Amino acid sequence: MIKEKRLVENFIRLIKIDSISREEKQLAEFLSKKIEDLGFDYEFDQAGEKVSSNSGNLIIRIKGNIPNRIPILFSAHMDTVTPGKNINPIIDGEKIKSDGKTILGADNKAAIAAILEALQILKENNLSYGDMEIVFSICEEIGLKGARYLDLNQIRAKMAFVLDAGGSVGKIIHSAPSQDTFEINIYGKSAHAGAQPEEGINAIQVAGVALSRMRLGRIDEETTSNIGVISGGEATNIVPDKVILKGEVRSRNQEKLINLTTEIKKIIEDTTRGFKTRAAIKINEEYCLYNLSPQEKVVKLALQAAKRLGVEPLLTSTGGGSDANIFNQKGLPSVVLSIGVEKAHSLEEYILIQDLKKTTEYILALIEEAKLGEKD
Ligand SMILES: [Zn+2]
Repeated sequence: MIKEKRLVENFIRLIKIDSISREEKQLAEFLSKKIEDLGFDYEFDQAGEKVSSNSGNLIIRIKGNIPNRIPILFSAHMDTVTPGKNINPIIDGEKIKSDGKTILGADNKAAIAAILEALQILKENNLSYGDMEIVFSICEEIGLKGARYLDLNQIRAKMAFVLDAGGSVGKIIHSAPSQDTFEINIYGKSAHAGAQPEEGINAIQVAGVALSRMRLGRIDEETTSNIGVISGGEATNIVPDKVILKGEVRSRNQEKLINLTTEIKKIIEDTTRGFKTRAAIKINEEYCLYNLSPQEKVVKLALQAAKRLGVEPLLTSTGGGSDANIFNQKGLPSVVLSIGVEKAHSLEEYILIQDLKKTTEYILALIEEAKLGEKD
């Protein structure tokens, strides 16, 4: 049923429309036109205004042609990371890659292309399907911002499949961590480094001592932490009066997350006190963990659909966040599915044509499985 040529052409077309975060409009308009041609209803929400994007989330509502099916939602994000402008996709046998100067953007346009192909197939073959919704979100890559402002009161689906993980099709993510990010301003006192160094407090040294006391990297199986940015100082002859540290903590255990964040905060406070100075610490709770049981309906359905497809499902957890964190937090049970993208967010990003096809088949299998369930 899949028309490989059409699928690949559509994918390439999507890749060629620039859509870095906050600049999704051109892609969103292209997609809404496609959806209209297929005869489905769509709307844009107001999320764009709230996150300074030139587009809202694109929400597609599909009325089923048979009753008693589980209403399901598919989602993918429209935005890409950088460098993501003027992407020149190259088809190299089975492999689709960029020319090496940019990312490819298969994260997440492979999912969008597969969803479009699946919708085409439903129409062309008069297949039966229940009520469905599709969300093409904005600003996922800069902190799940589109999903955050998606009004779930407007969504009728009972569960969601977020098509946004790397690796082989059949991988189902049912557990992901919470993430806290933080920005720490460590204050010292400036002074001439040669004339009156005793008047100063060296903020770089304070930061160094604090850093040496922190636990960073992999803390345990479900917990990680990182300081990713450090900046400060102006000249070699000035005792620096300020250093900024930016970092994050993640854990699939909320208590561990809170404990580690608190520990880092305490190290900063103790160290600055020791140097008779101070710090300002800003902590942001970025997103919340989820941990769906294998008995949860959305997980079962994803497993059944993988089996229907003939691939061995792999139920696993991740260290990364996605729109599924937000959906789960808001009460919509959601899993993340792999779509075959490799080396996402890098210049070596690629996808195999067979994975574009497999993802499309997986979507169709999920639709098929949803109709075997009972409506609740
Ligand atoms: Zn993604």
